[in-house]
Amino acid sequence: MTYDAVVFDNDGVLTEITDWDVLRGAARDAFSHFDVDPSDDDLSAVASRVTVDGLEATCARHGLDPADFWHRRDTNYTTVQQREVREGRKPMYEDADVVRDLDVPLGIVSSNQHATIEYILDHYDLREEFVTYYGRQPTVEDVRRKKPDPHFVERALADVGTENAVYVGDSETDVEAAHAAGVDSVFLRREHRSDLTLSVDPTYEFETLHPLTDLV
Ligand SMILES: [Mg+2]
Repeated sequence: MTYDAVVFDNDGVLTEITDWDVLRGAARDAFSHFDVDPSDDDLSAVASRVTVDGLEATCARHGLDPADFWHRRDTNYTTVQQREVREGRKPMYEDADVVRDLDVPLGIVSSNQHATIEYILDHYDLREEFVTYYGRQPTVEDVRRKKPDPHFVERALADVGTENAVYVGDSETDVEAAHAAGVDSVFLRREHRSDLTLSVDPTYEFETLHPLTDLV
């Protein structure tokens, strides 16, 4: 099978994942901004696997407005991740350079903040390589629309102009979002995913991005 476009997840695919403690600190600071001393459960509820229900329940427990709190949380996440990129702690993977050689329209759909993705693209001089890119705006609505919801994958497919595309990610939610949007998937099993057992079947499973050159 060959494809006319490739859409990528970012974290764990193009750039290394952000240090967990850094993100947890940013979440803690968001609670502190509203004079709340968060429990471990509070911090987990607003981490990367956040759901709207979990966010709203956490905010209700502390009398916080979910929209205000979430805006602060996401803004903090962007600030610390921009610093991590700038200071070399969130590098591009070496094989991610393959995006400079793939001769089909490319896109990004990330559950990271859109502002974080823009910063990454500029820092690594990648913006020209992608015809489209989506992260989340810092709104509760965009928590609802993050993967595995196919919302942003569908928008990216419209932008690259073909549904004969493959989506590349390193999480189960990436595979789910791709299939829900009606396209094939690559599960990228990098070292940080070596022990992960998937409960979904990706179309392909690769250990690096290099085999993509044979798929387009
Ligand atoms: Mg990822």
